Amino acid sequence: MIHQPKLAQWQGAFKDSLLDVGVSPYNGFTYDHIHGTKVGGTLFDRFGRRHTAAELLASANPKMLTVLVYATVQKVLFDQTGRRSTAMGVIFKDENGNQHQAFLTNNRRSEVILSCGAIGTPQMLMLSGIGPKAELDKLNISMVLRNEFVGKGMADNPMNSVFVPTNRPVEQSLIQTVGITKTGVYIESSSGFGQSQDSIRCHHGILSAEIGQLSTIPPKQRTPEAIQAFIKRKRDLPHEAFKGGFILEKIARPISTGHLNLVNTNIDDNPSVTFNYFHHPHDLQRCVDGIRMAAKVIQSKHFTNFTRCDKPTVEKLLNMSVKANINLIPKHTNDTKSLEQFCKDTVITIWHYHGGCHVGKVVDPDLKVLGTNRLRIVDGSTFNESPGTNPQGTVLMMGRYMGVKILRRRLGKAAHV
Ligand SMILES: Cc1cc2nc3c(=O)[nH]c(=O)nc-3n(C[C@H](O)[C@H](O)[C@H](O)COP(=O)(O)OP(=O)(O)OC[C@H]3O[C@@H](n4cnc5c(N)ncnc54)[C@H](O)[C@@H]3O)c2cc1C
Repeated sequence: MIHQPKLAQWQGAFKDSLLDVGVSPYNGFTYDHIHGTKVGGTLFDRFGRRHTAAELLASANPKMLTVLVYATVQKVLFDQTGRRSTAMGVIFKDENGNQHQAFLTNNRRSEVILSCGAIGTPQMLMLSGIGPKAELDKLNISMVLRNEFVGKGMADNPMNSVFVPTNRPVEQSLIQTVGITKTGVYIESSSGFGQSQDSIRCHHGILSAEIGQLSTIPPKQRTPEAIQAFIKRKRDLPHEAFKGGFILEKIARPISTGHLNLVNTNIDDNPSVTFNYFHHPHDLQRCVDGIRMAAKVIQSKHFTNFTRCDKPTVEKLLNMSVKANINLIPKHTNDTKSLEQFCKDTVITIWHYHGGCHVGKVVDPDLKVLGTNRLRIVDGSTFNESPGTNPQGTVLMMGRYMGVKILRRRLGKAAHV
């Protein structure tokens, strides 16, 4: 499923620039996260076709599997008559909005496995009565099990980017090359989104998730007017600013973490999530180091020879990036003078949020929900940290690892996977 990419010219120039400014050694094509510069795997095959997790269904035994699309689980049901609460099944709504209940079989080994993701799973646990007392009391949710850690330790690897001007047309390229510094800063690049207005909106990362970037704004300030103004700004972006590409840097294993809170008891409504980007000075310092490194990369001869641009000043680079207004955070006059302020004001998500149901706090090492029977969580909400580059491969491997382990236990085989 994961392939070696054919390196785009832009990515080649980026690789040489990274090595030029000291992000070395060159580790070639590898899945390992090791210091230096490398080329990572991609879900695009050599024909340019993207492969997805849905393809794994082709390997499943259709007689043993029922997939309900557009079904939304409302809550987990528990039998509370025993010493520990035991999951019995779920209530779900089908695509027509009709409500159903699904129950586990009598086989003691069957269980409910939640995989609603880092935002959906803590929300689901709380709506089902497992969570911090104050949070459940706030919405009159009857408590099944008190656990103050549900929805805590939410983390997102913060991302900041610097736009790269060019004087030549550049092909579109997704992230292929990555520079990994010793302090856990990941430097990546993507190019070629000035070719059409559409590609500005659809391009991976920075510009595509207009709504996603709203996560950088405190929920209470996300009024309909603010959202409309934000989207309008995106439509009015100056094309010249996006003729080239951008270099992004993101921080692996942020020390700053946040929390998830319910807004109401409707599963269809998003909970409120606060990541506290850069609250810890070490995270901020790493961002500053990463931006410095990104600027050096852009100024390196390899890149200026490729982009056919004069060596841009750091101030010009930052100014272009601030002007792109990629989030709703109010900007400051010293954004181009203070790298700390630049980091705080231009931070966005790269959607690698995780946590909220940590091992040892909400689930045990087998990912079973502590204090309950027949309930497990298999998704990114159990991660203490997310891989520095992209988490999807790790999440898929966790799914397979747990699937094989559970199956072997059910069949009474040794649990080595
Ligand atoms: C826009 C975007 C781009 C990304 N790009 C990349 C990338 O290029 N490479 C990469 O490695 N990672 C990427 N990621 C991150 C990656 O997708 C996630 O880290 C990963 O999917 C997390 O896996 P998960 O199983 O924890 O949750 P998810 O993949 O989010 O799965 C949770 C699933 O549960 C469903 N669900 C939630 N609540 C309910 C409910 N109540 N009832 C029924 N179903 C429910 C959701 O619809 C969803 O399908 C991207 C993420 C986003 C949002």
